[in-house]
Amino acid sequence: MTRIKEIVALQEREYSSGSRTGVDREAEGVMKVGRRSWLKLTAGVGGGLAIGKLGFDVEPARAAAKGSKLTQTEQFTTACNFCSCGCGMVGEVQEGELVHLEGDPDHVINGGALCSKGAAMIETHTSSQRVKAPLYRAPGSNRWEEISWEEALAKVAAKIKATRDANWLAVEKDGDVEYSVNRTDAIGFLGGAQNTNEECYVIQKAARLFGTAFVEHQARL
Ligand code: SF4
Repeated sequence: MTRIKEIVALQEREYSSGSRTGVDREAEGVMKVGRRSWLKLTAGVGGGLAIGKLGFDVEPARAAAKGSKLTQTEQFTTACNFCSCGCGMVGEVQEGELVHLEGDPDHVINGGALCSKGAAMIETHTSSQRVKAPLYRAPGSNRWEEISWEEALAKVAAKIKATRDANWLAVEKDGDVEYSVNRTDAIGFLGGAQNTNEECYVIQKAARLFGTAFVEHQARL
């Protein structure tokens, strides 16, 4: 802690005197910790000091902490899937299961903060209300029934084919001149902030194959 205080005091003196810039200091290795590492460092040092001053033996607490769920996890970075702000998140995985999500303090967009939707995003993974299979409501029916993915795919494909055939535009006329256009204006594609570049590539390709130029993004609705 004393060392941290010395560093902070040194930085304050240098900033107020204007003797060196942050870039200079980084080059000299005085401040080479990232923001997340810095928070962990100061939290760990501060906590240890406070408990130590009270006369507790911190070793049993440290040993117990090793057994808590967030100390035995693997971390990965990801992005919030709700809107196109693209806030960064850190996920924690334990034995193959996602157990925690929080804002990524090192992320350039959100700096660790999340809005209420992002803060609750783990619910999209763990909620008991999450829909995990396709649901189908037959014409005239008042209830949804679960169907297999194969059935759902076949139904969607049949509807796309029927819509495309019924609304196919092979040519357009401009005065007496006829142009071949081969498209349908009856089908559109909707992407979202959670789509990766690779998914967007495939969506665009599929849209062109189906003969539509209407590709939109959820954030523009
Ligand atoms: S945390 Fe909120 S603002 Fe950020 S991407 Fe998610 S929904 Fe959008």
